[in-house]
Amino acid sequence: MMDPKSLEQLIRNIPDYPKPGVQFKDITPLLADPAGLAMAVELMASPFRGKGIELVCGAESRGFIFGTAIAQALSAGFIPIRKPNKLPSDTAAITYDLEYGTDTLEIHKDAIKPKQKVLMVDDLLATGGTMKACCDLVDGLGGNIAGVTVLIELNFLNGRNVLAPYDNVHPVLQY
Ligand code: IMP
Repeated sequence: MMDPKSLEQLIRNIPDYPKPGVQFKDITPLLADPAGLAMAVELMASPFRGKGIELVCGAESRGFIFGTAIAQALSAGFIPIRKPNKLPSDTAAITYDLEYGTDTLEIHKDAIKPKQKVLMVDDLLATGGTMKACCDLVDGLGGNIAGVTVLIELNFLNGRNVLAPYDNVHPVLQY
């Protein structure tokens, strides 16, 4: 049996990073652990196995790490969402609010065909702003978002509320 709780010891808490008062969840020890990485990918992918997922979509940078592995686990393709001016062909862009200022993400306009079934991936759901922007990009191309899978959800930040109407959210661990 795979016990998600066993992954907790592979996640390191870094106080006051990236700024004072914030406790950062560092997943690099988990990525470095062969069994931990395999278990994390399997637990993130398995709720969506046999659901007809055609594409997995993740945002730079940590969404790429889990996204490609989960795409392989589901026999799906992978679509990258990137920071501005990184993707070489025609892009759709979205600008969203951060605590201070804004951020922009881009996707290739031809990456997703209307009605294609897409699974959204990231390492961690905090305020939900990043994932909401990614979902809106995929939605804007006509993709059918089947769900959102993350390794960690920080419940106290209520990212799920921001994510509505994309409500099929699967975290492996919650804090
Ligand atoms: P949100 O937009 O506030 O939900 O932040 C989520 C994004 O920020 C994800 O892409 C995460 O990779 C990153 N992030 C925020 N907090 C942490 C953390 O504590 N550990 C790792 N990544 C984080």
